[in-house]
Amino acid sequence: MTDFTMTTDTDGIATITWDVPEKSMNVMSLVGFAELDGLIDAALADAGVKGIILTSGKKDFAGGMDLNVIARMREEGGAEGIFDGVMRMHQILRKIERAGMDPKTLKGGKPIVAALPGTALGIGLELPLSCHRIIAADNARAKIGLPEIMVGIFPGAGGTTRLVRKLGAMMAAPFLLEGKLSDPKGAKAGGIIDEVVPAGELLARAKEWVLNAKDADLVKPWDAKGYKMPGGAPYHPAGFMTFVGASAMVHGKTMGVYPAAKALLSAVYEGALVPFDTALKIEARWFTSVLMNPSSTAMIRSLFINKEALEKGANRPEAPDQTVRKVGIIGAGMMGAGIAYVSANAGIEVVLIDAAQDAADRGKAYSESILDKGISRRKVTPEKKAEVLGRITATTDYTALAGCDLIVEAVFEDMKVKADVTAKVEAVVGPDCIFATNTSTLPISDLAKASARPDQFIGIHFFSPVDKMLLVEIIRGKETGDRAVAKALDYVRQIRKTPIVVNDARFFYANRCIIPYINEGIRMVAEGVAPALVENAAKLVGMPLGPLQLVDETSIDLGVKIAKATKLAMGDTYPDGAVDTVLFAMADQGRLGKKANAGFYSYDEAGKRQGLWEGLEAQYPAADVQPDLSSVQQRLLMAQVLEAVRALEEGVLTDIREGDVGAVLGWGFAPWSGGPFGWLDIIGAARAVEICDALAASHGARFAAPALLRDMAAKGQQFYTRFAQQPKAA
Ligand code: NAD
Repeated sequence: MTDFTMTTDTDGIATITWDVPEKSMNVMSLVGFAELDGLIDAALADAGVKGIILTSGKKDFAGGMDLNVIARMREEGGAEGIFDGVMRMHQILRKIERAGMDPKTLKGGKPIVAALPGTALGIGLELPLSCHRIIAADNARAKIGLPEIMVGIFPGAGGTTRLVRKLGAMMAAPFLLEGKLSDPKGAKAGGIIDEVVPAGELLARAKEWVLNAKDADLVKPWDAKGYKMPGGAPYHPAGFMTFVGASAMVHGKTMGVYPAAKALLSAVYEGALVPFDTALKIEARWFTSVLMNPSSTAMIRSLFINKEALEKGANRPEAPDQTVRKVGIIGAGMMGAGIAYVSANAGIEVVLIDAAQDAADRGKAYSESILDKGISRRKVTPEKKAEVLGRITATTDYTALAGCDLIVEAVFEDMKVKADVTAKVEAVVGPDCIFATNTSTLPISDLAKASARPDQFIGIHFFSPVDKMLLVEIIRGKETGDRAVAKALDYVRQIRKTPIVVNDARFFYANRCIIPYINEGIRMVAEGVAPALVENAAKLVGMPLGPLQLVDETSIDLGVKIAKATKLAMGDTYPDGAVDTVLFAMADQGRLGKKANAGFYSYDEAGKRQGLWEGLEAQYPAADVQPDLSSVQQRLLMAQVLEAVRALEEGVLTDIREGDVGAVLGWGFAPWSGGPFGWLDIIGAARAVEICDALAASHGARFAAPALLRDMAAKGQQFYTRFAQQPKAA
């Protein structure tokens, strides 16, 4: 069984079909590349072959490079191994591009066409880009593009050099720098592919093109005489503007913390100044440098390999299939309405209950508004809208819950209200139904006391807004059984989100880490650190929102509520009095955050964020001596990271992969680092302990290094090696 096979028809058309055995999607491996190389050689050498169609035996063309292979290449061959491997790929793709033509006259080559039945991503597009024509089936669900930048690398098999030469740097920028994906029609409009044809005509049209192709049709613009880069090369006046702008834009977006974006831009700029083959070599050098950067290792690990492993159920207990057929959602407020939408959209029948019918109807109307938006963007058809809405029954009648195999409760955050709802639900559902609560702060084990079946009681914690946020936190209470965990995981898979499974403890995992981040930012304001320094320090280290902006978004009264509840629970050991002074004062002044159009930031009447509120520095004057940037960053990062380590020490987290994936997807923890454990591995445990000791001496015991970290520093260990021993960790 091989990844590529070739057949030649009576007209002399060789069809090379990519069909990786036992996979639903083609991914490129080194072995696959070697097979393709052999078949191309054979077809080019065979006088009976007039031209070649490269296609797929699956519904899609290819999902990209097997990133596990890249990880292995780095481990085994280091920089030299990677560079040689990449140059070998370039040679093969260049051979396809030149297709046996005479290098001087550019005549006599064999036409090679890529026929894409569906999705073509990463190397799955870089390979077609080396062909002489790209024809795609008209398949609206297909995605075409180069998403490498999203996992911390960039298109390194010639995709960068080819696309820039094809479209010009400016037009190629969204595809390369933002990983923009398009459907086939969009890809054609964007100039990435050449033709879109009805699916049933794909191969016939490809063959027709091959049979009619002339010598000139095979010559890429960059191989033809007098080629000029569209939009101008760097030293052309127009090109100059592009590169100056792009450089500033990339830095503005990435804050300089993503090595891939910078390297990509360098490969584009430097490559534009030299002949095509030299540009490929430059691309390979920058690609190698990115793959050798620990940030790319960490990003690939968390955002691709481990994310996928968790989605496939890496931590799912043994239990029969728990696919959800009918879900009951209690509480049709902000969260319940979102949960109803994602469930119905995934094909699950939904009963959406609220105390009053109009509240239930409002909850259902939320789905309608999202679907309408989809229709206006041509992502949703009216039929699909009717289908999804048809799955949602909005009611106040609990008997409608009969037949539900899962309940998700999202009523007010109140122990008593939730307990009443639990009893009411259990009176009408069958004995196998799993009951999940979406609480953010109440212990699952306490809520489970209201249930007659605590082994079937679990936490499924969504993040807001539900339809956008990718992470779902599943919380095991003390008595939660394996089937409930399996049910929650199967449900999260159905709604196509990424799950982590954690044990029950205050604020579970994500909120446990994010609250100290917000608090540290507010504490600094109280100390007289300039608020702009706090916010910019956070962004410059890769946090999507500064802590003050974040608390404005989540609302200051929620912060006050959480602070009061935490203080009540902790008593004298409560450490955040200094934070509360600022937070409570903001709330007293009615500055409740974004929703009130007033918080740590000012907002205009339309609710658009302006700048930091000027009154802030008047109330908390900036100290004469300001801390340096890195010490502010260390405080902001360590506040989160140490909570993650403590969560692991305490057994709240049982798998560091979940800690990292959860952090990046849940609250946007510096994605370039791959997550808190990824970050600690990058700086090393010894350095982390040193930072903790210094911070603890100047700012207090909250920064004391956890015993686990000290032990790892003493032994020179990394998280991903120490915990790799466990069968669960990657
Ligand atoms: P919300 O106030 O918007 O919605 C709660 C809904 O529950 C209201 O529509 C209310 O009418 C309904 N309700 C109250 N008592 C009921 C009862 N006895 N029977 C039926 N319906 C009842 O609140 P929300 O923001 O959607 O939060 C709901 C839950 O989700 C809370 O437990 C909250 O902690 C949790 N949560 C919220 C967020 C968030 O960002 N808002 C995030 C994660 C989890």
